[in-house]
Amino acid sequence: MSDRHNPEKIAGRHFATKLLHFGAEIDEQTGASSAPIYQASTFHQADIMNPPHHDYSRSGNPTREALENYIALLEGGTRGFAFASGMAAISTAFMLLSAGDHVIVTEDVYGGTYRLLTAVLTRFNIETTFVDMTDFDQVKDAIKPNTKAVFMETPSNPTLKITDIARVTGWAKDNGLLTMLDNTFMTPYHQRPFELGVDIVLHSATKFLSGHSDVLAGLAVTNDEALGRRLYQLQNGLGAVLSAHESWLLMRGMKTLQARMEHSERSARRLAEWLSEHPEVTQVFYPGLADHPGRDIHEKQSKGYGAVVSFDVGSGEKAASLLSRVQLPLVAVSLGAVESILSYPAKMSHAAMPREVRYERGITDGLVRYSVGLEAIEDLINDLDAALRG
Ligand SMILES: *Cc1c(COP(=O)(O)O)cnc(C)c1O
Repeated sequence: MSDRHNPEKIAGRHFATKLLHFGAEIDEQTGASSAPIYQASTFHQADIMNPPHHDYSRSGNPTREALENYIALLEGGTRGFAFASGMAAISTAFMLLSAGDHVIVTEDVYGGTYRLLTAVLTRFNIETTFVDMTDFDQVKDAIKPNTKAVFMETPSNPTLKITDIARVTGWAKDNGLLTMLDNTFMTPYHQRPFELGVDIVLHSATKFLSGHSDVLAGLAVTNDEALGRRLYQLQNGLGAVLSAHESWLLMRGMKTLQARMEHSERSARRLAEWLSEHPEVTQVFYPGLADHPGRDIHEKQSKGYGAVVSFDVGSGEKAASLLSRVQLPLVAVSLGAVESILSYPAKMSHAAMPREVRYERGITDGLVRYSVGLEAIEDLINDLDAALRG
């Protein structure tokens, strides 16, 4: 191992440095400036009595492994696992549970996770209680004799509610419960869940980590050796792994994570402040706003507020008019990209939810979600102003 590949080289360095010097930034064999794409399903076994480290790409691929070590380093975990999508990562992690188990979940969890829990895992007799995790009493009251895990998502989507992570994990540990957290919105740049006691961190890497709306990927990370072995068994057993090519693309995107997050977050803060003063906007949801009810807790556990701002324009007609008039953001499902993305939860992510349930959760017909990209914020604001004023 050359000096360049010595893990000591990155120990104690800043996050921004780790993003570029993560162990696989230089190919050991050739000195190439990026990890090679090992486009191979299987590996020649020269000595059958001594099987090589890699034998089959579902079980392990060197390019995917570089990515898995990369996310483990960034989250401060010990093992990472890459999957074909965020939902593949999340559903694989839920396979740690068994029939008869019960799990407590953030009520405004990502729509795909909600669907997995209510339409798929129910058939395996895995039971879920959804609670408003901003209210710790609701979490405590949900425990039952068969409760095995707590699944958090903070800030939640799309109303950006905040869960006190350390409070939940402290209680979960006392009760022998596994804790999982979907860290998609914050990324390890803003929020490091292991430092707050979480056991498994999950990502839709489709969003900020890849950052360019061109990769679908999911990641799971743990800092516990036994959990790592179990997750590996599930990754290999279920087989929803990320391809070598997508692994490479994701690493390429991740190198600029901090630069992108810093820029987008600065813009998101300006956008949220500007929207709060706008006559056509009835409510703004952003943990960075002074009147956000979860702001203090969020500041305790995260380094920034993220790049997603949700706001209410008062009615479905006004939202439709806004969506048809904006010139700059992509009007689409998804978030976390170099280009701004404007989504309409009522007809996109939360279309399957009954209207009353949607309204109870603050997801009104007038609510839109703005994922701020890297455009000049002045242009984004002018564009939005023109679209809002009609
Ligand atoms: C998009 C998303 C997911 C699902 O990820 P896919 O890559 O689309 O499968 C999970 N959680 C959150 C918070 C998301 O935004």
